[in-house]
Amino acid sequence: MTESARRAMSPEIDPPSADVDAGGGTTASVELDRVTVSYGRTTVLRDLSLAVPHGQFIALLGPSGSGKTTVLRTIAGFIRPDAGDVRLAGVDVTERPPHKRGIGVVFQSYALFPHMSVNDNLAYPLRAKGADKKLIARRCADLLELVRLPHVGKVRPTRLSGGQQQRIALARALAMEPELLLLDEPLSNLDANLRVDVGSEIRRLQQQTGTTAVMVTHDRKEAFAMADQIAVLVGGVIEQIGSPTDLYRRPVSRFMAEFVGDATFVPGTVRAVEDGVARVATPLGELLVPDPVVEAGAVDVVLRPEDIALVEDPARLSSSGAWTVHEAHVDQVSYFGSSIAVRASVGDLELSAVASGSTVALPAAGDSVRIGIDGSRCVLLPGEGPR
Ligand code: ADP
Repeated sequence: MTESARRAMSPEIDPPSADVDAGGGTTASVELDRVTVSYGRTTVLRDLSLAVPHGQFIALLGPSGSGKTTVLRTIAGFIRPDAGDVRLAGVDVTERPPHKRGIGVVFQSYALFPHMSVNDNLAYPLRAKGADKKLIARRCADLLELVRLPHVGKVRPTRLSGGQQQRIALARALAMEPELLLLDEPLSNLDANLRVDVGSEIRRLQQQTGTTAVMVTHDRKEAFAMADQIAVLVGGVIEQIGSPTDLYRRPVSRFMAEFVGDATFVPGTVRAVEDGVARVATPLGELLVPDPVVEAGAVDVVLRPEDIALVEDPARLSSSGAWTVHEAHVDQVSYFGSSIAVRASVGDLELSAVASGSTVALPAAGDSVRIGIDGSRCVLLPGEGPR
């Protein structure tokens, strides 16, 4: 951590909830324990439990209306759950009002005061806490260093770009060295080309300051790029929680497999399991898929596009895989420069493959190609049958 970052986060001013243990032990930074929330007669969150370890960045991802914002507002204290507890660093804060929870919040709309200078915006939470002038001036300068905008203290936020305003909002949220940072769709008001920059800036600051963060987003790429863990919410229930790799490589359902990326589902039947490897009969022949728990019966084999190789020379397939090679008919090719997406079919089965744009012999629609499938990269789900 740089000196200014260290000072910006130094505990010279009491955090708002001094009785909250600063953590560092084994307790989670934030914990929801069997939380149920209703609006009138409609139950939106059901028995939802979630624990975020200290210093982790977790994204709440899900379709619109799935309850993400309700989770965030419950953690912040704007919503009181019908049942269940909210704990911060092991302390039950379910009954505690928002301003006493020691949480920094960043909103999609920045929520800066337009008539105040950037410095006055940053100073606002510090003044409310009764900090002295000198300390406030130094803290503002340190916070501006932290977000790499050292020269904007005297201007009004409205003179800044959207990306800069969001970085000031982030600095303000970090001013009180919060136990937890809540981010409510923080990138959705920004142009597409700024989102990546501001997203990586948020991640850098979160890691540099060691602050635990919970972000709401409906954008899968944002969640994958920024978060340590992603909780996917569907209808107020967590469908799956895990690292981006867990979600992509080990989806728990067809919904999850499709929600986090392209997938082809190949119907199959597990004939036998030997040494943790399933022999699966499929329209693509027998695939050898590692799965220590699957039992004999109907399954769906999940194939990701990058696991379907366009085979120029079968002898050059990696010897570590369990390959089967098939003749396929190319239906469509989309060229993106660095990669190509190929829709191809083997009999009635339609497959999505992706290959490097530097593939020597780029296929065209109507061509016959050979495709290779490495069973050791496949995932098995309980069979749902053809759709
Ligand atoms: P998300 O953030 O995933 O889009 P929300 O948490 O905002 O989802 O909303 C979850 C569900 O609760 C939605 O069906 C929404 O219409 C409903 N809802 C949200 N806020 C209110 C409210 N204040 N009053 C009534 N229903 C609400």
